[in-house]
Parts: sequence; structure tokens; C-alpha cells
Amino acid sequence: MRYCNRCVYPENHPLNLIIDDEGVCSGCRVHEEKDRLNWAERLEMLRHIVDDYRDETGRSYDCIVPVDGARDSYFTVHIVKNVLRLNPLLVGYNKHFNTMLGIRNLAYLKIAFGCDYIEQVLKPETVKVITRASLAEMGSIYWHVLAGRTCFPVRTAVDYKIPLIIWGVHQGCDQVGMFSHLDEVEMTRKYRKEHDLLGVEIEDLAMRQPSVDLVEAEPFVYPSDRELASAGVRGIYLSNYIRWDSKAQHELMIKKFGYETGFSERTFDNYNHIDCHIYTDVHDYIKYLKWGYSKIHDHCSREIRLHRLTRATALGIVDAYRKKLPTGTKRFCEWLGVAEQELWERVDIHRDPRIWHRDERGWSLGDDVVNHPHAQPWAGSRDDCTFLRTPSRTPGVADDRYVLIGRGFVPGMGPEQPVSGDWLL
Ligand SMILES: [Zn+2]
Repeated sequence: MRYCNRCVYPENHPLNLIIDDEGVCSGCRVHEEKDRLNWAERLEMLRHIVDDYRDETGRSYDCIVPVDGARDSYFTVHIVKNVLRLNPLLVGYNKHFNTMLGIRNLAYLKIAFGCDYIEQVLKPETVKVITRASLAEMGSIYWHVLAGRTCFPVRTAVDYKIPLIIWGVHQGCDQVGMFSHLDEVEMTRKYRKEHDLLGVEIEDLAMRQPSVDLVEAEPFVYPSDRELASAGVRGIYLSNYIRWDSKAQHELMIKKFGYETGFSERTFDNYNHIDCHIYTDVHDYIKYLKWGYSKIHDHCSREIRLHRLTRATALGIVDAYRKKLPTGTKRFCEWLGVAEQELWERVDIHRDPRIWHRDERGWSLGDDVVNHPHAQPWAGSRDDCTFLRTPSRTPGVADDRYVLIGRGFVPGMGPEQPVSGDWLL
């Protein structure tokens, strides 16, 4: 296997990574633009784009912003509301694996920014049927979240006739350099299907998995081209216009709005996926079993590219996390109604044969990034990558179980709880 000699990504990254003659991957090359582009100029370009969508009467929404209880949601809304001065409708898709912390963050986001918010909450049985089907079809337990959160905001844009959707980061650009920032790539049905949905739309799933009823699964059906054109729907990504730095952005949000951080099972990043019980737990372990790399590789690569981590240190971090067993497997399987053995057998079918081999002793990795310590010197890299832990807003409230249905109110949360991050100042 070839590995990038600047970051820690393997060549079999499912978003298609290209490694050049110098051994540096396309993601790292596109990241170089972050230190080169004139971002003040690009922010002006963004202002110019959104000006066309501003409702001067103030009677309707200017745009839609998809949000959840983590993942740059605060920063995206902050830019849209406080920097671009737009009036957004916030839209959420309930992932059904919510942590109490994620629900608190989402509740405070609504309070802090004073925006209207709508959420799609499917009934648990629908989510289970879809999850069992996506596990059988793709070895994925997270597909319904990827499908739901990329569909509901678009359906809302069509239904409410709010043509502009503003997303945060474009993963294809930021992780693997599929596009340059200069391409100003926008949301498309094709990218969603091929990359967000692992090549499988709900119609495909319903056709191949008899348990999926397309009427029940209708919320996952992406609007038709005709509907999109009729409402003039367009989705833009802030990361094309703002120098994207998730860690720095979250830390600004901790200071300004009291964004609450959490604990992640299989990575040092306490900011990005702490609203979900399975994302950095059993879902991430499945990613490792399929591709031989996991969230810790994503986060180390990101921090190397932003000059906060050296590759040598990153290899030690990857080694410490990647094989860590998830603690939530039993709980997840009980919720889904499948045996643990069945879960792993389903995943085994989808192991990438370019990296995983099986013999009489079981599965083993054909190669591993830790076997490739050679690093290309990368200007300005240092080991200065500490993620903060904030105190809980509801100390003493246990967060040790799934919270299947999102709520706007959480026990212990009230006006006495600070909205700002004063503890840091
Ligand atoms: Zn790289």
C-alpha cells in the first residue's frame, strides 16, 4: 500500500486519494492552498454571492443552514448570522444516536443565535429497518444519518422555497483534494450519491433489500431535478471562502458561545462528533475494519496539514488509537436487534481486499502506515495540538445511554446555566 509521506492517509481512501511523484497526496496538495489564497478576498466573494439571496423585506428566510449538536454547526451559523448578517432557517436531521451533550449543544445553539429551527425525527422503527438494510448492503450502520442529513435540508429548501443552502466544509475538497478551493464546488446529487451515500440511494436500497418500504423511507428520497430547478436550489460550502480550521473554529465557539466539548472513544478530537454515541465508537471501528484506516487517521492528517502535528508524532497517535475496541457494540446491537457476530460478519464482507487478507489465523492488514515512517519535511510543523475539555453544563447528569428522540430541553438546563464560555476568560 502507498501512504502519503506528509500526512497518514493510505492510497485506498474511499474518496479517491491521488499520491503524486513526490509521495504527497492530493489532500495535502489542496491544503497548501490554505496558506496561499487570499482569504479576505474570498470572504468578499462569498458576501457577493449571498447578497443575491438576501430578503430585504425581512419577512422570509435568506437561507437554510443544516446543523446538529457538533461538527462546526456553531461556527457555520456564526458566520451566516453574525458575519454575513443573513437570517437563516436552521434545519436538523435527528440521528437517533444522540448524546445528552449533543442535545445540550443543539439547544444552546438555538438560544445563542436566536434562529428558527426545524428538525426531522423519524420513528425508531424506520431508522432500524434502514440501518439493518444498509448493514446488509454496504456494511454501514451510519448510512441513514448520511442520507437523512443531506436530504432533509434540500427537501426543506424545495418545500419552503428557500433556494440557498449554506453548508460548512466540503469533505471531498478538505480531506482528499478532490477539488481545489478555486473550483468553488457546490452541492450536487452526483457527489452526494457517490461519496456521501457510498454509491447507494434509497431507491437502490429499497430495490435490493425487501425489508425497506419506499413509502416509509420517503424522507430519504432526494428532490427531483425538476423540483430543484423550480425552487432554484443551490448549496454552497463555506470552506471554499473561509480558511477552514475546525479546531481553531471550535475553540472560538467555546470562547464566544460556550460550545461544550466531550470525549471521543477512538480519537483525540473532543470537538467534532461528540453528539453521537456510535460515530467515534462502533461506526469508526467498522471503518477501520473495512479500509484499514479510521477517524484517528483523518484527524492526524488534518492536524499535520495545519502544521500542528508532526508526522512522526502522528504515527504514534495512530498506533495508540486505531485498534482500540469500541465500548458501545453490545448496546448498539441490542438497539438494532442483531447479534454481535452477525454485525462483524456483515462488515467482513466489505473489507477492502487491497489492504485486508484472511488466512486460517483470521484477518490481518497487508500493510500499515506505521511501517512507513519516512516523512517529507513539511514547513512549520510542530507538536502543538491540545484539544480542550470544557466542564459539563449539567454535571452529575449521566450520559451513558442512547437518547433516541431529540429534545429541546434537557434536565438541569435552565436560565441559571451560562450561555457564554466565561470559564475560559
Ligand atoms: Zn497527504
